[in-house]
Amino acid sequence: MDLFKPMGDLGDDSQEKKSVPQEKEHVKCLIIGSGPAGYTAAIYAARANLEPVLYMGMEPGGQLTTTTDVENFPGYPEGVSGPEMMEDFKKQAERFGTDIRWGMATAVNFDRDPHQVTIDDKKIIEADTVIIATGASAKYLGLEAEKKYAGSGVSACATCDGFFYKGKDVAVVGGGDTACEEALYLAGLCNKVYMIVRKPFLRASKIMQHRVMNTPNIEILFEHQTKDLFGDGVVEGAVLVKKKGTPEEEEVKIRIDGFFLAIGHKPNSDIFQEYIETDDIGYIKTIPGTTRTNVEGVFACGDVQDRVFRQAVTAAGTGAMAAIEAERYWAEKFAQTKG
Ligand code: NDP
Repeated sequence: MDLFKPMGDLGDDSQEKKSVPQEKEHVKCLIIGSGPAGYTAAIYAARANLEPVLYMGMEPGGQLTTTTDVENFPGYPEGVSGPEMMEDFKKQAERFGTDIRWGMATAVNFDRDPHQVTIDDKKIIEADTVIIATGASAKYLGLEAEKKYAGSGVSACATCDGFFYKGKDVAVVGGGDTACEEALYLAGLCNKVYMIVRKPFLRASKIMQHRVMNTPNIEILFEHQTKDLFGDGVVEGAVLVKKKGTPEEEEVKIRIDGFFLAIGHKPNSDIFQEYIETDDIGYIKTIPGTTRTNVEGVFACGDVQDRVFRQAVTAAGTGAMAAIEAERYWAEKFAQTKG
């Protein structure tokens, strides 16, 4: 699901033509997104008197609100739950005066000075500086069955939906850290958890590999790919292909009630792509060593610009960088004229 969807062509004469938003507001610093990057940018921008306004998007708190324990964020020696940590980030941003609002950026115009960002198709924010912290969203395999059984057995968030599969058999697709984390979480609730892994090995970190391999009710199906799901209205099983494309290729059926995707993420950059340079996948390009994009006054931080590390702590770090760079840009361009 894209958190920030394009508004469409306002010049379109179709019946569904959207009205041009009338309501306008001017801000010094607009932050789009509420994960570790957005909130950290807000903390720094607020302390630098940029009076930031932050729109939370469709998934307030970002991806960490769908994770279980975060064990690798410094400062929490015992670990912390994702939602709890994001609540702490939010409180800290509010403490310094960030104006945190519900709402989604639905279109942008970065040809204008000041830059324009449309919120919920109805309000235009004119911003001296814009910090993009829209993160990334879960990817799906692209099977028809994923749509057919959405909410009826297919999920991309074990923490959100795992409870519904208590005592049942489920599968998790993917072999990375997310897949292992989801499998371990589900193993605590479910009777049996299959991991469907397309390679003959896991990509996850050694510690996570060790944990899943030592959990008795997790079975890893290496070199398996999902062909289809079946069931009467709800998922009752999956059709897998083992060793696809080899002489030993074979079709295998497993009985499951839940099918969880954990195969990576897509950056939420769609609405910016007309103005902002991205790579082939859609990650926003920043000038190395900075958070500056190809558009002056627009900065990008967190997962939307990071295809390599994608950690909460690196997202927070780039959030701080974005706010510092926005403040310097604002001071150089506007401080004398606007005071
Ligand atoms: P990854 O990109 O690391 O892993 C994605 C997994 O999904 C891989 O096993 C990949 O297979 C598989 N996959 C991708 N596309 C398909 C497909 N079409 N069909 C079948 N399988 C597919 O993503 P993650 O979300 O796991 O992790 C992202 C980053 O976040 C990583 O850097 C990770 O370390 C980090 N992370 C850290 C955590 C922690 O420290 N607690 C928790 C979660 C994530 P293949 O290997 O064949 O490409």
